[in-house]
Amino acid sequence: MKTHILGFPRIGVNRELKRALESYWKGNISKEDLQSRSQQLRNQHWTIQKEAGLTYVSSADFSLYDQMLDTSAMLGAVPLRFGTQWDHVDLDLYFKMARGDAAANLPAMEMTKWFDTNYHYIVPEISHSFAAKFASRKVIEETHEALAAGFKPKPVLIGPISYLSLAKGMHGFNPWHKFEQIIQVYTDVIAELSSLCDWIQMDEPVLCSDMSDDARKYFLPAYQILNQAASQSKLMLTTYFDAIDEHLDLALGSGCAGLHLDLVRGKRQIENVLHQLPDSMLISAGIVDGRNVWKTDFQQTIPILNIMKEMLGSERLMIGSSCSLLHSPMDLEQEKILDNEIKNWMSFAVQKCAEVNILAEVLEGGNNSDAIEANIAAIKSRSISRRVHNEDVRARCAEIVPEMLQRQSEYANRKMAQSWLALPLFPTTTIGSFPQTAEIRIQRNRFRKGEITTSQYESFIRDEIRHVVKQQEQIGLDVLVHGEAERNDMVEYFGQQLDGFCFTENGWVQSYGSRCVKPPIIFGDVERQSAMTVDYLTLAQSLTEKPMKGMLTGPVTILCWSFVRDDLARSAVCQQIALAIRDEVSDLEAAGIRIIQIDEPAFREGLPIKNKNRQDYLTWAVQAFRLATTGVEDATQIHTHMCYSEFNQIIEVIADMDADVISIESSRSKMELLDAFQIFEYPNEIGPGVYDIHSPRIPSVEEMVVLIEKALERIPAERLWVNPDCGLKTRGWPEATQALINMVNAAKDLRKKYPK
Ligand code: GLN
Ligand code: ZN
Repeated sequence: MKTHILGFPRIGVNRELKRALESYWKGNISKEDLQSRSQQLRNQHWTIQKEAGLTYVSSADFSLYDQMLDTSAMLGAVPLRFGTQWDHVDLDLYFKMARGDAAANLPAMEMTKWFDTNYHYIVPEISHSFAAKFASRKVIEETHEALAAGFKPKPVLIGPISYLSLAKGMHGFNPWHKFEQIIQVYTDVIAELSSLCDWIQMDEPVLCSDMSDDARKYFLPAYQILNQAASQSKLMLTTYFDAIDEHLDLALGSGCAGLHLDLVRGKRQIENVLHQLPDSMLISAGIVDGRNVWKTDFQQTIPILNIMKEMLGSERLMIGSSCSLLHSPMDLEQEKILDNEIKNWMSFAVQKCAEVNILAEVLEGGNNSDAIEANIAAIKSRSISRRVHNEDVRARCAEIVPEMLQRQSEYANRKMAQSWLALPLFPTTTIGSFPQTAEIRIQRNRFRKGEITTSQYESFIRDEIRHVVKQQEQIGLDVLVHGEAERNDMVEYFGQQLDGFCFTENGWVQSYGSRCVKPPIIFGDVERQSAMTVDYLTLAQSLTEKPMKGMLTGPVTILCWSFVRDDLARSAVCQQIALAIRDEVSDLEAAGIRIIQIDEPAFREGLPIKNKNRQDYLTWAVQAFRLATTGVEDATQIHTHMCYSEFNQIIEVIADMDADVISIESSRSKMELLDAFQIFEYPNEIGPGVYDIHSPRIPSVEEMVVLIEKALERIPAERLWVNPDCGLKTRGWPEATQALINMVNAAKDLRKKYPK
């Protein structure tokens, strides 16, 4: 039985790729150096796959930035602003597309989330003038490279239908008008690959999403042509992140020799697919979860695979990972301090390759009793562990009643009850964090290494808080914050204080380009043992007469930015986190913090890929937020914050969260957000961000006045707040201070124009 994975993480176990890329961008290493380090990584990753016993290794899954950008390079889809005087996309041009060209003042291509993962891809820009040509030979070269090194490669391509579905047409141009040209390049690529390999993997995750009419229309014609081009090799049509559902006709009619199914997220489709599968088609069973950190439960998966084998025969069944392992950390063996009991429940990319191989061997009747027994023992230990199951938490969740999801009064009454805050019109505030200076990072590292004591570190943080409060007073802000100096990361900081979470040393996952995140892992029931933020926040409040806004991270964001246990519904995990945050909110209120912000920047990220599943998510996500936030007096003001734009479609849901005030990203899109208000009037208070904190540029007073006045067309003055788009932690003090002074002056100018 043949085996493969859909792709391997490329960043390297010690983030070698990150280091190499960043050194290259700084000019510290040469192009050749970058290339040879990349080649080394590819070789290591192929070796891991081969040594695990997989039939094929994935080639061209490696990328110096992003696989969608690689596809744009392959197709010569270079945005016009980067010039037309090139005949192939070399490294410099490639990185300009990814990161912009500062010297020439050219912006980078846009980046957005890859389906519902936390990986970000570079959005293709297709304009009227685009002429497709085979402009990067990377996929061919890397496949040759694997062959030359003695591996059996299965090259990976993003399929044309997913590529075009995710592309952005420029100035109203419909990217599908370039379909024929693009297919011509794919044809050339596939024809050339066909003499090098058995299989070519065509990633078409779009089949598991709501496809556009164009995508559906072009699908079969595309694959008819591509299958012809493939002559000596076979196309594996790979689908992942969900079941195919209503687009199964396309997948089955594609004429491809293989179809890969995500049997983790799309388990429900097995029966249906098997019954309709044409005889000519093989199934690749994506049974090892590529998106999580848990061991595969062999006792559960082997019977499923056996049924498939019985129906299809060994020749027509291949075993693999559900999706690319890009989304899981690389090697569990590198974790030296992770608790052994918990570690034994996990499997990272290296271990997942081995799991795929063991499953295939077992199915072929091999004697793997040791591996199976170990697996059964691990799964059992997890299912009965006291560290996973907490009766108190379960009991509290069972006792949640609808009243716990409601504020005492509706917004209009709360607004009156909150008048004691005596805020001016257009109150000014920030989103929470102030610059995380080098000094803060140095002290945090010294603390982590044990070079300074807890009390030394805490006193350093208290000094930072004093400094931040003083600065804000001088700037003249109305609602102050403590600055979040003690937080390395807005999720990790809370996870570290909650039961049910654990952390890795090296569990890095690529987020975009050279950037990685190290998500916390939620392995068990979540419980708060003691207050997490009250000390620093009460200190901060004691330093000023102005209201101090307490900062917490919301339950949905904590969930979305963690690896989540797979033995409990996400909604239930979210509810447990919400209870912990609810307790923290109460403690803050009791300690005299009467404005509390619960950040939910990831709220939109959790949206399922398919429309039909969205309502369910939105319902429980809103409930979790309300559970976390509604246990307070009317006179206490609840804020929330969201960023990463595109909230227009869900603005009514956001209103349903019923925060008294929301601050929301908006300046980059020039207040496009407000378009949504044409059809729906946001009922509570809102601070659409008036400047982009992602750029060091200092916006002028006038600029911000213009944006606020634009907002005033849709939001009445008494419900409008003035704040930046997001937290200031990535900025330096001089620019942050000046930008905030200008922002405060913009609010003051407007107060003169619109007296209360
Ligand atoms: N309060 C957080 C901060 O200011 C919010 C961060 C975010 O929205 N991503 O940093
Ligand atoms: Zn933000």
